[in-house]
Amino acid sequence: MTILAVTMNPSIDVQYPLDHLKLDDVNRVTTVRKTAGGKGLNVARVLHCLDHPLIATGVLGGFFGQYLSSQLEQDGIRGDFAQIDGETRSCIAILHDDGDQTEVLEKGPTLSADDAANFLQHYEALLKQVDLVTISGSLPGGLPVDFYAQMVALGHKAGVKVFLDASGAALEAALKADEKPDLIKPNDSELGALIGEEVDRKNLPQLAKQLAHPIFDGVSWVVVSLGAAGAFAKHNADYYQAAIPKINVVNPVGSGDSTLAGLAYATDKGESVEDTLRSAMTTGMLNTMEAKTGFVDKSKFDEYFTKVTVTKQ
Ligand code: ATP
Repeated sequence: MTILAVTMNPSIDVQYPLDHLKLDDVNRVTTVRKTAGGKGLNVARVLHCLDHPLIATGVLGGFFGQYLSSQLEQDGIRGDFAQIDGETRSCIAILHDDGDQTEVLEKGPTLSADDAANFLQHYEALLKQVDLVTISGSLPGGLPVDFYAQMVALGHKAGVKVFLDASGAALEAALKADEKPDLIKPNDSELGALIGEEVDRKNLPQLAKQLAHPIFDGVSWVVVSLGAAGAFAKHNADYYQAAIPKINVVNPVGSGDSTLAGLAYATDKGESVEDTLRSAMTTGMLNTMEAKTGFVDKSKFDEYFTKVTVTKQ
């Protein structure tokens, strides 16, 4: 059982820790961390931590693309990316002044029609080797808004489930297509943007009504992650609340990606609906307990799994 984790706009994530950020002046950095970044790569890393077979894919280009590939290799993660003419982007996070984070994010390369066609051919070949696909993050420039919808349709043609963690127009296009994603994982604000309503994470009856919105018809799983409040989910015609214990949060960045990894991991193992939600909450929580983004300590999985309460509504 292998999961294909897709990142269409990966990046080299650069972290510059500074005591104090001086504007309009020189800032010298002694410790620099450069990691393979992008939401789908967080999914891949969490699956790797869980010892689940996976392939990371997407597009890479230029020397930065090669660097990213070598970082994955060093981590023991199997990557199989399509090449593009453009250069893979870098995203800089300056950590400064006691917990402030200033980010400088490159938009990334613009893909040509040839790049898009090459990737889809590459993706179709990979589909023969996997049982489930996760697609995460934004579309790079140059790709049509229905690109993820096309990837869902190709997945289904190959008999493979496709989980989509995207937002905005790309997600809407996938929800309006004939072949629906098998799972989407909006957080509360993404859900609000989709249905054009305020979302109150404490009002569960209202959340259930909001998930009954026709935009979600035909999507088996809609999992709304609610940070420290756990999650609320719709699985076909049933609704579930997942409640989690209070934990010591070190770094919550990437918890949504870790949640998606937990959902894919449990689904690929054929777990029940309740245990799938428990797994998702466990990987989300375990990620928040680590300083590293998209990292979980597998030895703690069973302990936290038993602490999640899933209630059918
Ligand atoms: P991000 O965009 O930062 O990756 P997200 O907004 O998509 O995250 P969240 O709803 O914040 O996702 O978090 C996903 C899951 O991670 C939650 O359902 C929960 O299991 C866990 N989690 C996140 N924040 C906390 C927290 N403060 N305490 C406990 N668990 C948390």
